[in-house]
Amino acid sequence: MTEITTLAAFRAAADELAASGPARIAAAATADELAEARNALVGRASGRLGALMKALAALPKEDKKAAGEAANTVKATLEALLDARGAALAALAPRGPAIDRSMPARAQWTGTVHPVTQVIEEIEAIFREIGFTVATGPEAESPWYNFAALNFPADHPAMDLHDTLYLGDEAVLRTHTSPVQVRTLQAWQPPIRVLVPGTVYRRDFFDPSHAPAFAQVEGLCVDEGISFVDLKGTLSHFARRFFGATKTRFRPSFFPFTEPSAEMDVACRLCGGRGCAACKQTGWMEILGCGMVHPSVLEAAGVDSARYTGWAFGMGPGRIALQRFGVPDIRLLYDSDVRFLEQFA
Ligand SMILES: [Zn+2]
Repeated sequence: MTEITTLAAFRAAADELAASGPARIAAAATADELAEARNALVGRASGRLGALMKALAALPKEDKKAAGEAANTVKATLEALLDARGAALAALAPRGPAIDRSMPARAQWTGTVHPVTQVIEEIEAIFREIGFTVATGPEAESPWYNFAALNFPADHPAMDLHDTLYLGDEAVLRTHTSPVQVRTLQAWQPPIRVLVPGTVYRRDFFDPSHAPAFAQVEGLCVDEGISFVDLKGTLSHFARRFFGATKTRFRPSFFPFTEPSAEMDVACRLCGGRGCAACKQTGWMEILGCGMVHPSVLEAAGVDSARYTGWAFGMGPGRIALQRFGVPDIRLLYDSDVRFLEQFA
């Protein structure tokens, strides 16, 4: 500010302050900015009004009254504007805790269906279309349901402690879903067509292809006049629907509860039957075990084996999930690691 030595210069400086101050006040967007503006405009020590009051002291005595009135008018005007702006900013200020809009949003977690459950649901859907219903049974079974009723001889190696988890003498953790066959045959009259998904238990080592608890899906069909042709036709239909396999083959096998027994292979989906590492160069993938229900099983459940016949199958949806999703180790399916599982959304 140039030095003010006359009343006219003083008035000009006061008018200039009155003209430029309101814009400075209006530009203050926060309480802090408004405090800065107040200090710059009307502050006693370093503000422009303070500088005017110092200049007033140097004016000739006869001019001081008029200069003082001019300064007070500017001060009153600016302070009224500062107070009004302060009230307006206070009304705009947010209530409650401040919101930090730069914080990242919380991640949205979406649940997914476990790959083994996906496979089971797909198998169920295919069999429901052809008249099967879903049945379940207890996981802690009596040895009679788990072995004797299913035609296991009393000295069968599967009953060995190395293979079966016993819960005392009276119960085992079921080693397969086949006990539900017996319970179904006891509870319902043929015709019977049931699908039995469930968890089964073995004393297996936990290695890349074995788990001590794993999923199994069992199927059972019992009626008058049921033959191996029905078994082949139904399971081949399933293989076409589920695997898109054009070729299936049945190899002779042995299970205590079926006679004759077979294992079903489908043409390897990866190589189309030419042979690859996944199918060990055979061109085939083993999918399930099956066979005609042994007459002893029907009789044990109270079904007349002279009148009724049936077929059954069992398969491991965990193994199927490994093939379908290209997972190299069955333990990954049962570790419940969300980082692994969320890939199957
Ligand atoms: Zn192959």
